[in-house]
Amino acid sequence: MSHAYHRQLVFTVKDKCRVCYTCVRECPVKAIKIIKTQAEVINERCIGCGNCVKVCSQGAKYPLRSIDEVNELLKSDKKIAACIAPSFPAEFTDVPDYRMLVGMIRSLGFDYVAEVAFGADMVAREYETSIKNSNGLGQISSDCPAIVYFIRHYHPELVSYLAPLASPMLAMTRIMKKKYGNDLKVVFIGPCFAKKAEAEEVDEVLTFRELRDNLPDQQRALLYSQFQRNHS
Ligand code: SF4
Ligand code: SF4
Repeated sequence: MSHAYHRQLVFTVKDKCRVCYTCVRECPVKAIKIIKTQAEVINERCIGCGNCVKVCSQGAKYPLRSIDEVNELLKSDKKIAACIAPSFPAEFTDVPDYRMLVGMIRSLGFDYVAEVAFGADMVAREYETSIKNSNGLGQISSDCPAIVYFIRHYHPELVSYLAPLASPMLAMTRIMKKKYGNDLKVVFIGPCFAKKAEAEEVDEVLTFRELRDNLPDQQRALLYSQFQRNHS
């Protein structure tokens, strides 16, 4: 593995790093090195698993942020779709009904809101066929980009076991572009920042945390009271 294969996914806040070596020890692929008294991520080795962000007690590691790019898209005259990962109910437990979340996302300027669960259903059917045709060898799901990077770059002998199928995110992007036209811009919103490096066909990727940070509290309260009025 000698070349960069995706854009940088994790960064270090230089002023916050105390060079405690925790992230160096905890990185599963030894992608962090102390350079000039800072724990720097070596992008060519990073699989985007997020462990260093989780274990750093100083908040000195942060993932790639895309909110500025998404806001630029929202200001444009393009039609924009938000495709939400199926895990959203686990993240937005404070939103009592999924329709409220749809309203919140629409109020940010998105023209369409769709569930990636639909894409997952489509992909599941393909997996069934693909596994049946694997001569009993089984397959490794290619849905998780961190796993795919890990296998491609650290265990190339397993590449032939990776399912040759699009992820639900990519399948849903293709479905939306087929339905609304290729000019449609698609923003995937999900739990994992590794998705930001998965596919160029997806125009932008936001994490749930980025979405949450972009929803003003007043708007959330307003939508909540509107929802209660409409359903009382
Ligand atoms: S865990 Fe955080 S503070 Fe410790 S070396 Fe890594 S980035 Fe620096
Ligand atoms: S995201 Fe994972 S692979 Fe990348 S530097 Fe952090 S711990 Fe290592």
